[in-house]
Amino acid sequence: MREIAVVGGGPAGAMCGERLARAGYDVTIYDEHLAWEKPCGGGLTHKAIQAYPFLLSGPHPKKLIRTVELISSKGHRAHLDLEQPIVIYARTVLNGLLLERAEAAGCRVIRSRVNHIDADGARAILAVGDARVEADFVVIAAGARNSLLPSTRPLARSDLEMTLGYFVPAQAEGIRVKFLRRFEGYLWSFPRCDHLSVGICGSMARHTSQELRRHLHAFMAEEKISRDGATFYSHVLPSPQRQTLSSRRVVGRNWALVGDAAAWVDPITGEGLYYALRSGDLLAEAMIAGKAAEYPARVRKAFSADLEFATRIARRFYRGRFLGGAVATRMIQFIERSPTFRALMADVFGGAQDYCSLKRRLWAQCGTTLTEVVGSLVKSQPSLSKSAPAAGTENIP
Ligand SMILES: Cc1cc2nc3c(=O)[nH]c(=O)nc-3n(C[C@H](O)[C@H](O)[C@H](O)COP(=O)(O)OP(=O)(O)OC[C@H]3O[C@@H](n4cnc5c(N)ncnc54)[C@H](O)[C@@H]3O)c2cc1C
Repeated sequence: MREIAVVGGGPAGAMCGERLARAGYDVTIYDEHLAWEKPCGGGLTHKAIQAYPFLLSGPHPKKLIRTVELISSKGHRAHLDLEQPIVIYARTVLNGLLLERAEAAGCRVIRSRVNHIDADGARAILAVGDARVEADFVVIAAGARNSLLPSTRPLARSDLEMTLGYFVPAQAEGIRVKFLRRFEGYLWSFPRCDHLSVGICGSMARHTSQELRRHLHAFMAEEKISRDGATFYSHVLPSPQRQTLSSRRVVGRNWALVGDAAAWVDPITGEGLYYALRSGDLLAEAMIAGKAAEYPARVRKAFSADLEFATRIARRFYRGRFLGGAVATRMIQFIERSPTFRALMADVFGGAQDYCSLKRRLWAQCGTTLTEVVGSLVKSQPSLSKSAPAAGTENIP
């Protein structure tokens, strides 16, 4: 197996192509846009930087963010200081640098749309524009919105989120994230070098685009982010169900899905860049070892078991109640009042804390967290220590 066609030159396709070309494969990457401003926050967490240090050390323009402000539906605010920065790229820059690396490794990079893939024969046949090309193996890295899926099912509405947003000509130093009441998704403002990416994501099965747009405009007005000169965007984002992660077919005899096409996205945060890069990397590794069929098992070991675990938390996080209030609101209040809990959540948002071991850490720190929260409440409400009613603290019972 020597000739490889990669459909899609985003992070997943470019990373997979680069690794295969370095190992001596004859790789052609097809992308209808090449480096483009794909709708995205562009934020890379610590785990992405740890795995791919060139994303931090390289010369390409990027913004290093060390503070995240979380806002509850009731307007409570809490700040997280990140030990490791979130690195934010404009997607034109990020895609461009990954494609440059793929080309330097020996990939042919062609600007063209692939209209169809036939993977039934011994070799895969691709309809590229008006031409017909063959390859021994086709890597499908065409994102969430694609229909090039040999022998596997497309993502259902319940596996997708809708996103709307604006690229805004303004500057900021920190990320802002706001949660809404009874809403599975969130609003964000991500600062890049010379603009902000401000947007909203929400479950496609539960929310309409009008609803999202209304929330987004209200958020921008509240946060004093002007829409003057801003460019609107919208796109879909996988938010996989547990069943999809555990049982959707992602590899065949001469094809495999990577990145968003495989739905490798964190169902709570929407982080997909790390999983796109890592899945491209893992597929290449399995192919180089002559064991493409092992790709799903390798992904499971590396991260998809953690994503499956996250699907169990996601609904509870966005819809559940804790101590009589919304989980996100309580989380923000606890962050404000407990340094121990704040450090834990900084690791979650920064990407240093996985979901599988989160529960253990939460339980281990539970006593300290509660002591800090109660201590902070008593300090801020001296009357509490004299058993007076907790006026003004209706927030935490
Ligand atoms: C609004 C929004 C905000 C996000 N914010 C973040 C964030 O801050 N951090 C994060 O980690 N993740 C974020 N994500 C997720 C992230 O953008 C994706 O997970 C990531 O881009 C997936 O990479 P990919 O290479 O799999 O697919 P993509 O980046 O979608 O790349 C697919 C490529 O395939 C090409 N293509 C598609 N069809 C064809 C075809 N038929 N022929 C040829 N080429 C084709 C496209 O041109 C594209 O370049 C966000 C997503 C959205 C929608």
